[in-house]
Amino acid sequence: MLRRAIALGVVLCSLQAAAQPSDDESRRRGDAEREMFRKVVEIPTVAGRGEMPRLVQLLSAEFRKAGIKDITVKTHGDTQSMIVRWPATQRSGRKPILLLAHMDVVEARRADWVRDPFTFREDDGYYWGRGTSDNKAGVVAIVSSLGRLRASGFEPTRDIVVLFTGDEETQGDGARLASTEWRPLIDAEYALNSDAGGGSVYKDGRVEGFYVQVAEKTYADFRLTTTNRGGHSSAPRADNAIYQLAAALKSLEEYRFTPMLNDASRAYFESVASKDQGAWGDIVKAWLDDPTNLEKADLVELNDPGYTRTRCVATQVTGGHAPNALPQRAEANVNCRIFPGVKTEAVLEELRSIAGKEVAVELADGGQGAEPSPLREDVTSAYRNAVGRKFPDAAVVPSMSAGATDAIYIRAAGIPTYGVGGLWGYLGEPLGAHGLNERIGVQAFHDQIDIWEAMLRELAR
Ligand SMILES: [Zn+2]
Repeated sequence: MLRRAIALGVVLCSLQAAAQPSDDESRRRGDAEREMFRKVVEIPTVAGRGEMPRLVQLLSAEFRKAGIKDITVKTHGDTQSMIVRWPATQRSGRKPILLLAHMDVVEARRADWVRDPFTFREDDGYYWGRGTSDNKAGVVAIVSSLGRLRASGFEPTRDIVVLFTGDEETQGDGARLASTEWRPLIDAEYALNSDAGGGSVYKDGRVEGFYVQVAEKTYADFRLTTTNRGGHSSAPRADNAIYQLAAALKSLEEYRFTPMLNDASRAYFESVASKDQGAWGDIVKAWLDDPTNLEKADLVELNDPGYTRTRCVATQVTGGHAPNALPQRAEANVNCRIFPGVKTEAVLEELRSIAGKEVAVELADGGQGAEPSPLREDVTSAYRNAVGRKFPDAAVVPSMSAGATDAIYIRAAGIPTYGVGGLWGYLGEPLGAHGLNERIGVQAFHDQIDIWEAMLRELAR
């Protein structure tokens, strides 16, 4: 996922010119990378469709073509993940670098989209199709940048390991197993995640920033249940499973978890406050000056939800068994995105006290969290240098994601993980990740491959 919703507006001539192929060779290479992207997007790797082996075969063939032959395919559940190793030519003794992307995509229905989500097309300065922004551009960037490095005769002094998972959007088992059972295959000094980070550009061409994602909120689902002896609906009583559940959800709606800052979110918001001279910058600055103030944090949440604190929201509800009976049971799912470092158990206790003693609260799914990864100057500066070739004045800023990626498992396993996806887009114009009419800027797609290539050249030399 990109850090912020972005998309095409007016592409400035200077930006276009910066990445136009300068000779036949780079034009041919760009065409080949676009063609790989087309093929990758057109395989509908949605959970349950059984298409993952086709994509794994295609990518394995691309790696082999590049001369990278140490490929392990893992079948788990009804999908596959792959681990690929490019061994060091001259060993420096440093541990490997792990590169992350996921090959699966969120469901997309033909009837809901303007065009077929699994027919790749270029239009209006964009590449369109499910997975173009999340995360197949990242998959293609990793394969292509390694291919370019090999073709140029680059000799890494440490192993470069690739983990492409097959169920990031659903089970997360690929990353979970990689961090446990398959750990010897993926062990690394740190990981670079293509599914996070990236740049936000104003429509006038100024860069808001490129983000190094060092933290993710913890995903957790909680089940709230009320039960009751029920009875005939002609004889209502004060005790009622649906009303009790509704009251608990109403309390949750009104509740505010304590606002918090960590190094990543502080750096991100300070960068926003310093760049935005308008109302948004003022709102952020007011909160930074008084970070425990609930009302000021609320204003920030209104504009950019999810970054000031733990957030929990009711997402599903069921209850009752007949239209003419007092309900015996009502249930709600409450989805929480927990601030990094806050224990899931502590949120469970907080929800119990919000819901009251008539309501049973239990953890239903998730809850695996990780501390933020400590910033590394080598990674940050390699990313800054790589981005700087396209956007010379871009600030590189640490950030936290409100959503979760495979990185949560890799971080929790003690491998510091940095979201340094090279994709960029325009502020305020959505790319449709997980939603409708997903797309990525044509220039952004090709730029990110250059960024990965330059970054890896610096970090693995
Ligand atoms: Zn993703």
